Amino acid sequence: MIVAMQDEATEQHIQDVIERMVELGFNVHRTTGTNQTILAGVGTPAHFDVLEFKVLPGVHDAYRISSPYKLAGRNFRPEGTTVTFANGVVVGGAEVIVMAGPCSVESAEQIRLSAQLAAAAGAKFLRGGAYKPRSSPYSFQGMGLDGLKLLREVADETGLLVITEVMEISQIELMVPLIDCFQVGARNMQNFNLLRELGHTRTPVLLKRGMAATLEEVLLSAEYVLSGGNYDLILCERGIRTFETYTRNTMDISAIPVLQKLTHLPVMADPSHGVGIRDLVPPLALAAVAAGADGLLMEMHPNPDKAMSDGAQSLYPEQLQKLIAQLRLLAPVVGRTVA
Ligand code: PEP
Ligand code: MN
Repeated sequence: MIVAMQDEATEQHIQDVIERMVELGFNVHRTTGTNQTILAGVGTPAHFDVLEFKVLPGVHDAYRISSPYKLAGRNFRPEGTTVTFANGVVVGGAEVIVMAGPCSVESAEQIRLSAQLAAAAGAKFLRGGAYKPRSSPYSFQGMGLDGLKLLREVADETGLLVITEVMEISQIELMVPLIDCFQVGARNMQNFNLLRELGHTRTPVLLKRGMAATLEEVLLSAEYVLSGGNYDLILCERGIRTFETYTRNTMDISAIPVLQKLTHLPVMADPSHGVGIRDLVPPLALAAVAAGADGLLMEMHPNPDKAMSDGAQSLYPEQLQKLIAQLRLLAPVVGRTVA
């Protein structure tokens, strides 16, 4: 941390700041110029709030230099993290992984057909929510445990892996034997108790960016999972709230290369929630892979016009098929292949 004192700061102000820095565990190096004193704090105390220093008497400004997330930071594993799944599918390696399926599990017929169509198109994971975080309590809330069992059954029939959303701690135990990857939704990105508990499992987790979360906040949420010892963690950009109203969210493509610079964790993209409009999903999916995404999470429904949730953003099966064919052409440009 660097603390720049005001030109008018007194020796007492300077000593008070030094004392507080030392208390926190910093090794303080003082430089006094003609007018101004600069204090450089070397070391990495576990917790400190740079704001606390910005408001101390005599301080002009204070800057944090080290990142507040230690385990999620790129330095922790410069070579990058790969997450390996049961059947040898790897996220974060050379191959781009596609996860596809409906927003929600609605019936045995719907999820079975979805799995068959997703597998035929080239997806490796079947997605589908059994527990749905709906903005309205009157909207379809999901099939719960029955939905989880159906996901497992049809994924096994079609050779797919299962990714599905976990909303609360009490669901973890019953989900572990039935799923391959937990999805933490945008609305739960800062459900710290849930994240902490998922850190104690050894089931991979895909953590979505909250709709108003900064990238630093995403990485601090990741830190909760990692600090429990679960390193099988994937981040996912899914669009953020901006002033634009044409699309459901604003798909922040720049988040992908930025996160890859800041963290060793794989970074995926969900263009379905990112734009909310079916025909805009393929161009944004291509853009995400061009920008370096390790995979895509997308909604596809056998009959989107009748979907119980997110029909407008769900691809028609033939759109998914065409998109994956296009991704196969594009991926080599950025040194990747599509699994
Ligand atoms: C979903 O994947 O269906 C979902 C609810 O996503 P998000 O958490 O990104 O809104
Ligand atoms: Mn959805």
